[in-house]
Amino acid sequence: GGYTLHRRREFVWELPKQGDMRVPARVLASRDLLEAISDDRTIEQLRNTTHLPGVTDYAICMPDGHQGYGFPVGGVAAIDAESGCISPGAVGYDVNCGVRMLTTNLTYDDIEGREEELTNALFDAVPTGLGGGGVINGSRESIDAALEYGVEWALEEGWAVESDLTHCEDGGRRLDADPSAVSKRAKDRAMNQMGSLGSGNHFLEVQRVTDIFDADTAAAYGLSEEQVVVLIHCGSRGLGHQTCNDYLRRIEEEHDDLLAQLPDRELAAAPAGSDLAAEYYGAMCACINFAWVNRQLIMHRTREVFADVFDRSWREMEMELLYDVAHNIAKREVHETSAGETELFVHRKGATRAFPAGHPEVPAAYRDTGQPVIIPGSMGAGSYVLSGGEQSLSETFGSTAHGAGRLMSRTQAKDEFWGGDVQDDLRDQQKVYVKASSGATIAEEAPGVYKDIDEVVRISDALGIGDKVARTFPVCNIKG
Ligand code: 5GP
Ligand code: MN
Ligand code: MN
Repeated sequence: GGYTLHRRREFVWELPKQGDMRVPARVLASRDLLEAISDDRTIEQLRNTTHLPGVTDYAICMPDGHQGYGFPVGGVAAIDAESGCISPGAVGYDVNCGVRMLTTNLTYDDIEGREEELTNALFDAVPTGLGGGGVINGSRESIDAALEYGVEWALEEGWAVESDLTHCEDGGRRLDADPSAVSKRAKDRAMNQMGSLGSGNHFLEVQRVTDIFDADTAAAYGLSEEQVVVLIHCGSRGLGHQTCNDYLRRIEEEHDDLLAQLPDRELAAAPAGSDLAAEYYGAMCACINFAWVNRQLIMHRTREVFADVFDRSWREMEMELLYDVAHNIAKREVHETSAGETELFVHRKGATRAFPAGHPEVPAAYRDTGQPVIIPGSMGAGSYVLSGGEQSLSETFGSTAHGAGRLMSRTQAKDEFWGGDVQDDLRDQQKVYVKASSGATIAEEAPGVYKDIDEVVRISDALGIGDKVARTFPVCNIKG
């Protein structure tokens, strides 16, 4: 794309500050990963983010980065929370899209030969696709309670146990949530989506652990070879999408002056300290709570399905939440920057928080190991569990990658792959059982549309921002 990146050191590339850029930008990648983004808009978008007022030290593109709406997916921008701004496009439409992993005491032996039965049972029980319906029926009261209290509400209603809260980012509840800042229209969209995967890239995957890289940390996380685990990937559904839209429109109406200074309207941001910034932050935090409830309800349903299929209680199968972590989020966090300790809105869009051992915001269970970082690969490749790395605070404002990252658009994918063939090949060649509401989704999410997850994780590990703990491989997968 005509940008010259300077190699600072291994896997760290810098786009120097030029013109109206407020800070430089960095891409964390190997030469192969850099090549994958050489002819799309990723670097241009990363450069654009350095125009945002208050952006601190440097904008970062993670090894899985690719172009997105205004701001690259895989982008991190830490923006001064007093003098800067907050940008819905730098959070993403799917607020608190994220992942949670559920461990079990089953091993691959226990499910081998029963994959089809398990896949069908999960597909029947967990709402997927564009059609309405969730694990529970929403009401005005339940939506408001979920927005305000997050997983604490689910616990009260009997859809969670105490340990689900202590093994979720922020205990499953963001105290800054302001449900009154979420529009009625957004809440209406949530009504029949409480506990639903949605379509496209979201999935529920039963996996087996194939590799352990760090035995001590794996033990602390409750992971062992051949163990069966479940990975759930979804977000805040129509609620988050509508909220993003609502605030983008309001920013255009109320803060056009700031917008006019930015190189891309999709980066629209509310100035820190403005009423709108506070309202967006409160609304976004409410969407975050909703997404946690969403994943909680799906996990609850998953426990019931396993109990049914294996004729044992989920407690007997020790189906415990390992961790739940967001990868589309902006958080008020204090970091040591070139200007000293600063309160920042850390925007992580398609990036995962990766706080190291000892950080006070890491849940007590993981204070000695660093927080678990869960990175999905694809339905035909591995996924990873990492632990927050020692270098993450100084290199990336405590962040790392969130996936393998797309190589091609959905349209391109449908030209390249045929859903039925992808499904057959996965089953016949890799013993992966996939069921989706639509064949197009399988084509759009074919393993070949994603970058090499092993390569992405290698960079994270080498830079010390997220360290390899374990690798998993898919067994059953359902999606929209
Ligand atoms: P995103 O949140 O940006 O849509 O994607 C997160 C990541 O999930 C993608 O970058 C991709 O690596 C991964 N992914 C997409 N589909 C699947 C799947 O079916 N199974 C697994 N394990 N990972 C997937
Ligand atoms: Mn999402
Ligand atoms: Mn996601």
